[in-house]
Amino acid sequence: MPLLCKQCNGRRFPIAFTEERDALWLCEKCKNFVNIKDEIIREWTEQEIEENKLKLEDFNKNITKEKTPEIKRRSGVN
Ligand SMILES: [Zn+2]
Repeated sequence: MPLLCKQCNGRRFPIAFTEERDALWLCEKCKNFVNIKDEIIREWTEQEIEENKLKLEDFNKNITKEKTPEIKRRSGVN
């Protein structure tokens, strides 16, 4: 499994693409994708990096917006 990047030894993340049969593994440091056989497929494009950034921002916004649900106090049994 291409879980670790050969170049920087960093963690790779599986990214699913609709046009690819298998997920590709991304190293955010080296900015490239490898396939399941650990062969470099392509670079992480500027556009994808931007999209990823936006997604992360959205994600963080949602987290801060949504208040953590208060733990419901158990009403006494009986
Ligand atoms: Zn790397």
